[in-house]
Amino acid sequence: MSLDIDSALSRVLDLVKVHNRWRRLESINLIASENVMSPLAEYVYLNDMEGRYAEGTLGNRYYQGTKYIDALEGLLTDIMRQLFHAKFVDVRPISGTIANTAVYAALTEPGDTILSIPITAGSHISHRANGAPGILRLKVMNLPWDNDEFNVDVDKSIKLIREVKPKIVILGSSVYLFPHPVRELLDAVHEVNAVLLHDSAHVLGLIAGKAFPNPLELGADIMTSSTHKTFPGPQEGSFSQIMRSYLAKYRRRYSPA
Ligand SMILES: *Cc1c(COP(=O)(O)O)cnc(C)c1O
Repeated sequence: MSLDIDSALSRVLDLVKVHNRWRRLESINLIASENVMSPLAEYVYLNDMEGRYAEGTLGNRYYQGTKYIDALEGLLTDIMRQLFHAKFVDVRPISGTIANTAVYAALTEPGDTILSIPITAGSHISHRANGAPGILRLKVMNLPWDNDEFNVDVDKSIKLIREVKPKIVILGSSVYLFPHPVRELLDAVHEVNAVLLHDSAHVLGLIAGKAFPNPLELGADIMTSSTHKTFPGPQEGSFSQIMRSYLAKYRRRYSPA
């Protein structure tokens, strides 16, 4: 049976229309990792830039025709830097997972160990061996978790960090009731020359609105995030904040020659 393209096309348009009506007007979304994009963000997102390539770094692209994209990326970087009190911001990652992957790729070698919260305690697959760290051949060990406090066990974690000397310690997850102990783990993390990464995907909007402590102000070395959870931006838009020394390494590896 062959498909009638005209009726298939009108079905496509119809599906989009009924989806929009259903999800925007007729239902209450209880999926914590989703949001309704702000109308302003939606207006800005739906423009010609959406379909353009802007590979490379600002001012150093592989494609022509990016002068306004460059201006916008520069402005966005400044806005994010100010909003989150970050020294450096990279707005290019197209999702939270990609932002995390960029951090791993820049700071680790295959075989290195990273510490993250177990999935059963609310962590995200992009912190775990069956996600990006596994693809990059990293060894993932559990940060000790205290189920009664529903938080990372600080004393046991400090002991483990000193023992296994990981390259990255990841805080921040997809389910948490309380801020994770950034300040409490920082000395031990730096003592072994590791990096404290806070994944703020679920709380970015709360951080922007000052309803959740800003991990960067608490001393986290890097913060990554999605932009579509409590932060009402588009799916995919993401950013990571990278300290100067790491940024240099990241640029060396990923900048066009
Ligand atoms: C959702 C989530 C991500 C992944 O973000 P995507 O933009 O969906 O790739 C990463 N980390 C945490 C903690 C998340 O909750």
